Amino acid sequence: MKGKQEYTPVRFSHLTSYSGVGAIVRGVEDKLMVVVDIRHWTDKNGKNATIPIPYVNRITNALDISKELRMPPVAQENFSKGIEGSYLPAVLFPTFTHCSTCGLLHPNPWRHQNKPLNEKVFCRDKQCKGKGRGILKQVTWCCVSNEGHLDEVPWHAICHKESPSKCETDYQANYLKFDIDKKSGKNIVKCTRCGSFHQYEKQQLGFMNKPQPWIYESVELNENLKIDIVEINDSSAYLPDRVNALVIPPESRISKSTIVDKLYSNSTALRKLENIAIPLKRKGELLSLATKYRCGVDEIKNAIEQIDNGYPNFDTFESAGDLIADEYKAFLTPLKNVKDDEDFVTEHKTDEWKSLATEGMDNDLLALLYIVDKHIVANRLREILVFKGFKRGRPQDDQEQLLVPPDIVGKSNWLPAIELFGEGVFFTLNEIILSKWEQLSGVKQRAIEISKRYEKSGLNLGDDIVITPRFILLHTLAHLIIRELESSAGYPAAALSERIYHSRNDKMAGILIYTAVPDVVGSLGGIVESAQPREFVKILHNAFKHALWCSLDPVCTEHQGQGPGWLNRAACHGCVLVPETACDYGNVFLDRVFIKGNEALGIPNFLNFVMEHK
Ligand SMILES: [Zn+2]
Ligand SMILES: [Zn+2]
Ligand SMILES: [Zn+2]
Ligand SMILES: [Zn+2]
Repeated sequence: MKGKQEYTPVRFSHLTSYSGVGAIVRGVEDKLMVVVDIRHWTDKNGKNATIPIPYVNRITNALDISKELRMPPVAQENFSKGIEGSYLPAVLFPTFTHCSTCGLLHPNPWRHQNKPLNEKVFCRDKQCKGKGRGILKQVTWCCVSNEGHLDEVPWHAICHKESPSKCETDYQANYLKFDIDKKSGKNIVKCTRCGSFHQYEKQQLGFMNKPQPWIYESVELNENLKIDIVEINDSSAYLPDRVNALVIPPESRISKSTIVDKLYSNSTALRKLENIAIPLKRKGELLSLATKYRCGVDEIKNAIEQIDNGYPNFDTFESAGDLIADEYKAFLTPLKNVKDDEDFVTEHKTDEWKSLATEGMDNDLLALLYIVDKHIVANRLREILVFKGFKRGRPQDDQEQLLVPPDIVGKSNWLPAIELFGEGVFFTLNEIILSKWEQLSGVKQRAIEISKRYEKSGLNLGDDIVITPRFILLHTLAHLIIRELESSAGYPAAALSERIYHSRNDKMAGILIYTAVPDVVGSLGGIVESAQPREFVKILHNAFKHALWCSLDPVCTEHQGQGPGWLNRAACHGCVLVPETACDYGNVFLDRVFIKGNEALGIPNFLNFVMEHK
């Protein structure tokens, strides 16, 4: 690896979804960059700059991760432009640029013209005298392999693929050009020295120069390695593998103000203490910790003893080993003596919800008050997003694609993760009615069709997605609620997230709509107000109403399939889709017909069905 490579910080807000290791992102001055691996997440002394995340044992156990979870570096140094908050180190990629006027390719002009990255660079060709003075832009093509490699497109090699001429590669000169083939109309790269040309879109390659843009090693070729040229925003250029989970009792209940918590969360201090063999030195260290935490040395000693004895000890750590099932149970279990600094603070409001029903009330409202089984307001939530690695390229003949770990080599004892804080609303649907509804053959049939399409699509939207009527119903409803929260409560949909709890076997049918932001005090607030029964019943009522129509009807309702892989039926931008960040399932598996019904298909209006069977 080159010693003097410069890393440019890239801001992150949602590390694990958008800009994890290996992602191509827009960084400083709108340049395309790629986030480098966690071996480089160091401070200026070369030490690991990440911070361990405490109290996440349930999550790591359930995910079968034996590694520590650590947060990315937080910039404290004064960068020239004063970057604050968290950032990730990244390198310029692709480094090739092309002239927007004449099409001439320039390999890394910032380096060859000796310009800093925040300056514009221009075409140096004497004949290039276009209106825009030939501003240079990064190319938007790269090559990826099915084993997770990413590299620049070898433009010279592609261009001379079928020409026997002895044109030599020159990594500094600007002699290749983007053009359009007059005969085929296809995009080509052309050599201005020898006249060779070749198209590059969807081309396959027999070699790659580097495994990742920041790693200067060679790529071992093997017969299974498939290398494609793709656009940088193609889904095969980057597919992160991430999981998110809520911190729930008992871990969420740990008091954050005790000395033992402070010490437990400060693993550097603990390690330092462990390594001190000289009693006098140890005494000094204990004293400085006592000063730091403004307590007596005895309290520090006591805290160390508790940690040595296995703090935090959980007597009641009952886990189904399933993140979702555990969370579902946590929501349904009322908490006693909740303190403000806990990470999972809920209020059970089912009684209040049920009490809203009055004589002579609108049938739809009565159905709503009935079908919601449990209504819970989440005043405080803590979510952990874990980044497990990434994949690139396309799967070959049903083979599992290689998952590239966050340190590329798979030797690190930690995984990058971030913690987010938020609040939300959680409710479940009546299991008896739901299980009757999902037995209807029209309902079953419609879900099976989507399930079959998903199998055929080759898409991978999560590891254990089971497509059932229950799931599509809950998912569509979650989207309608998110849209309603935006239009009636003014809450930006992009700031909301969904979590769907669904399983026929485990009798789970719940929806959590919540906010999650990196800063504990940064939440926009307001969700809790809309979550109160009196407000939420209006939101839910409107959500159901909006399931009945779409501005693009009748086209939307009658659609055979919309979206990637035709995985949506009656669902489009006019009615059900939400911003990408708000959806856990790529904005598919949505269908309003499960709610509004369709007589011809034997699918009842859901709320009518509720009234008939309550
Ligand atoms: Zn030019
Ligand atoms: Zn040539
Ligand atoms: Zn629609
Ligand atoms: Zn969704």
